[in-house]
Amino acid sequence: MKVENRFLKYISFPTQSNPYSTTSPSSSNQKEFGEFLLEEMRILGLSNVYMSEYGVVYGTIPSNNHHQGDVIGFIAHMDTSPDASGENINPQIIRDYDGQKITLNDDMILDPQEFPYLKDVKGHDLITTDGTTLLGGDDKAGIAIIMSMAEYMFKHPEFKHNDIKIAFTPDEEIGHGTDHFDIENFQADYAYTIDGGDINELYFENFNAYQVIVDITGKSIHPGNAKNKMVNSLNVAMEFHHMLPHQKVPECTENYEGFHHLNHMQGTCEKTRLEYIVRDHHFTELKEQLNDFKRIQAYLNSFYGYELIDVTIHEQYLNMCDIIKDHPQIVEQVELAMEDIGLNPRIVPIRGGTDGARLSFKGLPCPNLGTGGFNCHGPYEYVSINMMKKGVELLLRLIKNNVYNNEDMPFE
Ligand SMILES: [Zn+2]
Repeated sequence: MKVENRFLKYISFPTQSNPYSTTSPSSSNQKEFGEFLLEEMRILGLSNVYMSEYGVVYGTIPSNNHHQGDVIGFIAHMDTSPDASGENINPQIIRDYDGQKITLNDDMILDPQEFPYLKDVKGHDLITTDGTTLLGGDDKAGIAIIMSMAEYMFKHPEFKHNDIKIAFTPDEEIGHGTDHFDIENFQADYAYTIDGGDINELYFENFNAYQVIVDITGKSIHPGNAKNKMVNSLNVAMEFHHMLPHQKVPECTENYEGFHHLNHMQGTCEKTRLEYIVRDHHFTELKEQLNDFKRIQAYLNSFYGYELIDVTIHEQYLNMCDIIKDHPQIVEQVELAMEDIGLNPRIVPIRGGTDGARLSFKGLPCPNLGTGGFNCHGPYEYVSINMMKKGVELLLRLIKNNVYNNEDMPFE
């Protein structure tokens, strides 16, 4: 089956994850999609194919080569973002894209002025939405690439490889993709998530990520009698927020610049809570940012003369670069494989997290590779079919290079 047809089949499954659910996986439709993938994996000759009770799908493409080479894992996620509907996706196929505006529907246009990446896919075949849902390329493009790789090996037994481990995870979009990932049973030396953008890109630096919760306890008095007595926690919250560095926010930062981001606030005169996420690629600078919160807390507590501010700091995930730097060959061999098939490897810092970060810290080094998907999590999402095909070729090349004396690989 062509990677394109496989992708179109996968996006017909609604698999939105639900951040308010208390179950794992967070939505039952992810398991339904998982069942479909299990069946396909069995047909493609994988062994040890199963889904865990938490909805993680596993399988092995068995070695045909006396176990030469590394045991490489490939991972993608089954859920789509809760940010936009993923039901009844109505994909539009554009052949040989001319580089001009693409009309999604009467109200929505994919405009290269607004989305300059479109220029890089001129001449490609694209799949877009009809403007009413997301597409699901994040991350069904990754799953389609991995499954097409498996199909190639099934059809070409002469292509030599060691055991290849495959896993599809639920709930990545709500931060729980690896909660129940069984690294011990997965038994890969290292792995790659296939969950990025442009196929020339390679990602192994993500943010260090913390959540900071600021609780402020005011003194609520009847406003008529409040003089010299009331402390309005809402006002203190605004003071607190304005004492943080104004430029270190998402809307003013890019590349390796870190930020703090107020993503929720709720309060009354008596009690106010501010919820922040704090991000930086460099741990020392992140610590500096966290210290800002502590300094402001100390200052305002002393100014008001009582402990009205409480700051709680939670680690969310760390920059996997700290792990990957000890295994440089995992990155180098991707760069080499990319060059072998005519790609131009670009290392791009992720301004966010990835399942691979948590897996790396749990003991499975796991950089991230591209899928050919763009503008994920909303109706402007699109994928390049050409890049998905190149993605299949890249994984096969990586495997080929990993096995000593492998034969030349004809890939169509
Ligand atoms: Zn993703």
